[in-house]
Amino acid sequence: MKIVVIGTGYVGLVTGTCFAESGNDVTCVDINADKIERLNQGEIPIYEPGLTELVKRNSAAGRLKFTTDVAECVPGARCVFLAVGTPMDEDGSADLSGIWAACDSVAPHLEEDAIIICKSTVPVGTNRKVYERLKKSLNREVHVASNPEFLKEGCAIDDFTKPDRVVVGVMTAEAAETLEELYKPFLRTEHPFLVMGLESAEMTKYVANCMLATKISFINEMANLCEVVGADVNEVRKGIGHDQRIGFQFLFPGVGYGGSCFPKDVRALMATASEHQVSSQLLQSVDNVNKSQKCVLFEKIQRFFGSELKGKTIAIWGLAFKPRTDDIREAPALTLIDQLLEAGASIRAHDPVAMDNVKSVYGDKITYCKHQYETVEGADVLAICTEWNEYRTPDFNFMKQQLKSQAIFDGRNLYDPQKMFARGFYYSGIGLKQPK
Ligand code: NAD
Repeated sequence: MKIVVIGTGYVGLVTGTCFAESGNDVTCVDINADKIERLNQGEIPIYEPGLTELVKRNSAAGRLKFTTDVAECVPGARCVFLAVGTPMDEDGSADLSGIWAACDSVAPHLEEDAIIICKSTVPVGTNRKVYERLKKSLNREVHVASNPEFLKEGCAIDDFTKPDRVVVGVMTAEAAETLEELYKPFLRTEHPFLVMGLESAEMTKYVANCMLATKISFINEMANLCEVVGADVNEVRKGIGHDQRIGFQFLFPGVGYGGSCFPKDVRALMATASEHQVSSQLLQSVDNVNKSQKCVLFEKIQRFFGSELKGKTIAIWGLAFKPRTDDIREAPALTLIDQLLEAGASIRAHDPVAMDNVKSVYGDKITYCKHQYETVEGADVLAICTEWNEYRTPDFNFMKQQLKSQAIFDGRNLYDPQKMFARGFYYSGIGLKQPK
């Protein structure tokens, strides 16, 4: 099948590459000429495990191409996916300017039987507006479908090629059949292909992300409470997780959720609710809890030093919003960096892959360390924001020698508090019982 994917970011590039891998003829389009040039030279502009090999293999086989020119690839395409960004607007709603621009650019080149499929996360009603807009501009019927994406950065290829489910919102049976054929190679393990209306598909994506964000804010609030009442959230987690109605998944306390999806999708659903005069008190609380949680490490460090942070040096491990990605959008580490800089502290930071992205935000305001151990040299304390595997079993002896205050503020609960106490550290996790 000839496929075009508009928007070659985390979702578009993975989508295009995986469809090429299953034998389709795919062209990925982006307005960012630099990105397309790099891709044409075999350079992958994002960090996503396994993606480089797949892009190279499919490009070499001639199944995957990159261009900035829609006129070159949309004619003859059966499926045109929209995977452009839908970032948060100033009022919290989704900024859909990329969707409209993409629609308008492909419209004049669409075949009669082409299906325009929105993979971007868009508020309820957007796909119907896409349909109306295209129908008006082409003065004929068009096929529009919603196909929200559920992949996670860091394991995007696995998620795409072995999805728990594929959700499509359609207006015609024909669109559903075409999409089912396209997804068949990825659904061999009998995971469902769910066909529904446009509005239900659009809602499904937001409800899924809001549910996950709610779980995170819930366990974070419980963890904060555990910490002050002398309970240990890890013990409590076990205590509740064995109840099959609750389970263990997505109930890890930390320094709040970040990334390009949860914060914006929670706020976009709140904006939709408000537009329809429906209350969204729970979502508002989820968002508020998360905003406070992103400040927890700073507050703990501040308390440790008795408020005076001027002249202190803080080592930070982990800058990406989660491991296995270089994405720093809304990352908790950035909130910590902002607060520390504001308080006059110096920062020595490390991340295995996200450092270039952080450099483009902070320039020379912080020190970037090539190795995780360089950060602790001359630092007062260490803060951990991302649970990269390489941080899990570090050389504690070296760290103890280097850290002036021998204190670790762990936003991801990587270590055992008892063992850290025995090693001679002041160790503060999230919701953990302090050893005496
Ligand atoms: P991204 O910012 O990484 O990529 C978007 C790309 O679209 C950019 O390269 C940009 O240059 C390009 N673009 C913007 N306007 C364009 C236009 N008119 N024509 C061509 N290209 C254009 O975004 P992303 O993280 O891939 O997210 C894309 C969508 O998928 C969003 O709606 C997001 O909410 C959703 N989503 C993201 C994830 C994720 O983990 N990143 C997961 C599921 C869904």
